[in-house]
Amino acid sequence: MTLPGTLHVVGAGLAGLAAGIAAAKAGARVVVHEAAGHAGGRCRSFLDERLGRVIDNGSHLVLGANRTTLAYARATGGIEAMVAAPAAFPFKDLVTGKSWTVTPKRLPAGIGEILKALGLPWTGKAETVAGRLGGTPSFARLWQPMCEAIMNTAPDEASARMFAWTMRKALLGGADALTPWIFPGGLSAALVAPAEATLSLFGGEIRFRRRLKTVTPRALVFDEAEIPLGPDDRVILALPPWVAAALLPGLVPDLATRPIVNAHFRCAQPVELPHGSHFLGMVNASGHWLFVRGDVLSVTVSAAGALVDLDNESIADRLWDEIRRTLGMPPIPPPPYRIMKEKRATLAHDNHTVVRRPGASSGRDRVYLAGDWIASPWPCTIEAAISSGLAAARLALARPGLTF
Ligand SMILES: Cc1cc2nc3c(=O)[nH]c(=O)nc-3n(C[C@H](O)[C@H](O)[C@H](O)COP(=O)(O)OP(=O)(O)OC[C@H]3O[C@@H](n4cnc5c(N)ncnc54)[C@H](O)[C@@H]3O)c2cc1C
Repeated sequence: MTLPGTLHVVGAGLAGLAAGIAAAKAGARVVVHEAAGHAGGRCRSFLDERLGRVIDNGSHLVLGANRTTLAYARATGGIEAMVAAPAAFPFKDLVTGKSWTVTPKRLPAGIGEILKALGLPWTGKAETVAGRLGGTPSFARLWQPMCEAIMNTAPDEASARMFAWTMRKALLGGADALTPWIFPGGLSAALVAPAEATLSLFGGEIRFRRRLKTVTPRALVFDEAEIPLGPDDRVILALPPWVAAALLPGLVPDLATRPIVNAHFRCAQPVELPHGSHFLGMVNASGHWLFVRGDVLSVTVSAAGALVDLDNESIADRLWDEIRRTLGMPPIPPPPYRIMKEKRATLAHDNHTVVRRPGASSGRDRVYLAGDWIASPWPCTIEAAISSGLAAARLALARPGLTF
């Protein structure tokens, strides 16, 4: 059954794609408008000419606990381009030289610490992760890397309540909750291209290079086009928070963000991480997580405030030196590299910001909001983005039971 009117989704990141797919499958006429020449937003792959490889804007990991993401990937077929890796998280400390592996059954922490991390018996609304777990024996080798990876926020400002919620989902969320899902063919092959194909299959379309400048009750005004809005039309703004705040002043708050830096190095030959793992956590280092894909080694620096302002060469030198020492390589200069700085990668998940995330209603009639920054118990992640898109489609179509 075709529904009356058109659903205009602005932004073809994962939130916009999720909203578009759910609505198109339910019979809505969907048009997605995207400012860039490609979909995927902050979660995408591209061919890097210098490296001669398809790389991601940043290495991403999804956990089994991210149920809505997996439902989206199954519905689009993108799951075929994802691999469930063993639930084993190897770490190496660059100062002590020690290595260890964290598994669901082998957490390097005592029961008292684990209960604290899970938020028990009670977590104050002003508590930070460092305030709650900072003095514990496992802080540096477990809770700090988890906090930086999941929340992209330093432990001394990260919300302990939000961290505890994600820990409960990961550690108590069922046998597969800690399963890491990786993207051997890149993010776009799994989360973007199959979604675009699914949208098209259900009659939806994406119009690229359309930057929304203004939204009024009667029209969407783009750089070079104006689209009148009829009485049955609906709008979902699936935009980054700072763009939504500029378009809807007074309705969307200004929210603090934090950067992520990624460095991709193309090595002379394929590289193997210890135990054949796809990734490795680095402790006491500027780099946090090392990922390997064939001959490309990629390192992620979360909450990268101290690094983001350095020039690319200094960043590459520093991170390559750490990689080299982690993998026991001789002192050779960095191979060809690409530095990606996402200056506003996610919100700052501090106690002030997380409670100010707005809901999906924009305050304007028939205009809804989506994006990883919309109110959610999840930090800004793929799961938050896709869930927000589904929630916005449910509201816009008045179909609370809508799924992918
Ligand atoms: C480096 C990095 C690493 C990450 N790692 C992980 C991870 O390991 N696991 C995880 O779960 N999450 C991770 N994330 C977070 C995840 O990528 C984001 O939460 C998610 O991609 C956000 O999707 P979104 O649709 O909400 O926003 P966006 O991806 O920002 O999409 C918004 C879209 O709107 C478009 N747009 C902007 N302005 C306009 C305009 N005026 N008109 C029209 N279109 C416009 C943009 O071009 C973009 O396509 C990471 C993010 C980064 C940057």
